[in-house]
Amino acid sequence: MRFAGDRLPLLAGAGALAAYAIFFASSYDQRLLTVAGIYVIMVLGYQFIFGHAGALSLAQGAFFGVGAYVTGILGSQYDAGFLATFPLSVAVAATLALVVAAPVLRLASHYFALATLALSQLLLLIAVNWEPVTGGANGLPGVPPITIGDWRIARGLPLLAFVWGLAGAAMLIARWQLGPLRMAMFTVMRDTPLAVPAFGIDAGLLRLRAFLLSAAFGGAAGALFVHTNRVVSPETLGFGIMVTCLTMTVIGGRFRITGAVIGALLLTHLPEWFRGLDEYYLVAVGALLIAMVVFAPDGLASFITARTPAKPACLHAIPAKPDAPADRSSAPLAIDGVSISYGGIQALEGVGLKIGPGEIVGLIGPNGAGKTTLANIITGLDRPDAGFLRAGELNLGTATPTAITRHGVARTFQTPQLPDALTVRAAVATAAANIVANPDAHSYTDTVMTACHLAENADTPCGTLPHGVRRRVEIARALAGRPFFLVLDEPAAGLAPTEQNEVAAILRAQAAAGLAILVIDHNLDFLRPLARRLACLNGGHLIADGPTNEVLADTKVQSAYFGLVIQ
Ligand code: ATP
Repeated sequence: MRFAGDRLPLLAGAGALAAYAIFFASSYDQRLLTVAGIYVIMVLGYQFIFGHAGALSLAQGAFFGVGAYVTGILGSQYDAGFLATFPLSVAVAATLALVVAAPVLRLASHYFALATLALSQLLLLIAVNWEPVTGGANGLPGVPPITIGDWRIARGLPLLAFVWGLAGAAMLIARWQLGPLRMAMFTVMRDTPLAVPAFGIDAGLLRLRAFLLSAAFGGAAGALFVHTNRVVSPETLGFGIMVTCLTMTVIGGRFRITGAVIGALLLTHLPEWFRGLDEYYLVAVGALLIAMVVFAPDGLASFITARTPAKPACLHAIPAKPDAPADRSSAPLAIDGVSISYGGIQALEGVGLKIGPGEIVGLIGPNGAGKTTLANIITGLDRPDAGFLRAGELNLGTATPTAITRHGVARTFQTPQLPDALTVRAAVATAAANIVANPDAHSYTDTVMTACHLAENADTPCGTLPHGVRRRVEIARALAGRPFFLVLDEPAAGLAPTEQNEVAAILRAQAAAGLAILVIDHNLDFLRPLARRLACLNGGHLIADGPTNEVLADTKVQSAYFGLVIQ
């Protein structure tokens, strides 16, 4: 049986653990296992933000502490029962994450880490100084045991089973949240942040989801922790918990559910096993941590289970985006008077361009002329200082990059932006599922791959593809959202003549079907037969726009291309 075969080591491990807990573990061992189960929940939550979203949050300890204090205060001071305090602990931690998300989640990596650390320190200060409510430095004793109706869960095996039951539920939730499509979206966000909007992914929402889940799991773990200890104290908000969580996640693994289990079990038991080392215990743990980072960056779980490959077969599990279909009656692209400067550099000044359906326009110009800047402005990655840009009815000057992609404006990049770990099919399918309301995303992915001659490469990871194929995968990714306008930034760069012809044929076929295309390239052998019209930028100014041969014969264009051979 395939299921059993795949998971045999895990089932055997779970069985051995259960047998140990029931038949061999002392009450102290059972307590350790209970605490490990609680940490499993905390680490599962942390994996969302630190592993999948790739953001170094130092707030997991804070969410743990918030859950602990909500349960601790309500349980010990107001006699509130588990069925009230547990959901509240989860909800308050998640609400706190929601409140701090707006300012904090926008921050770049190390600032994000510092901001989340500051949140933890602030909460710790409140816990220590708000004595009437929190009990100050001593905390609050008398947290009741978990009681559900008349069922009072005693310490030892009953509590152990209950906690691991909840840890199992947390694993199911994590599994549900991390379906193949969402895993692929997280992969894109981590590996190719520049291309996130080109995949139609809303990075803000994805990060927020990860942050809220991490907080909710952290709050749940904190609540269970104080029920186990029967006391809540500032240690639950201390940096120690955060370090423990981070260490468990790194050693166990950031991406796999089994990583949370391995990390939590190992780190809870290491102090016991290394008891003989006395004060050198921390040195041993530090050495282990460094060894893991160097030799097994994906954690111990990577030796046991393979990461779930992103299979597009499950795309239907997530409903397609309900965005209204684009109004394609107007010109696919209309630009007027667009200017932008970076510091003292005027990258574009007063640029105007209009492209109709089915038209292929080549954009040429010497290095630094402003071609990529124009592509960035059209796709929302840069904002113009002045001017007007419209695609269909959408104002490109104000819409977000993701909204622009979902509206039907696609792009490729000068250097292909594809997540190495995703297969070609997964990359194309991720875009197909995110960009348009596309009930047939699965079959449309196949159609696009066939159109781009990628059927043979469907199951190859993007990271192992030769450059020429990567260029075509980028085009397929762009076409997956059924765009009406496509801008390509140097699609022929680095391609052999036969590969260039292949790309040109794909673009011609798409234009024949009505797609408006702007092709940025220096390669006139590629552009001349492809584009009937050329536009030329020089020093941020559009110096020519017209039929290809006329533009190439223009003296201003020839002088701008001084040094390039125009035959
Ligand atoms: P190439 O053919 O070499 O790719 P290009 O025509 O695409 O050149 P751009 O990359 O658009 O030129 O750059 C236009 C000018 O704007 C250059 O002088 C560049 O240094 C500057 N520039 C572009 N982006 C930025 C930025 N983010 N910050 C500062 N300067 C920038």
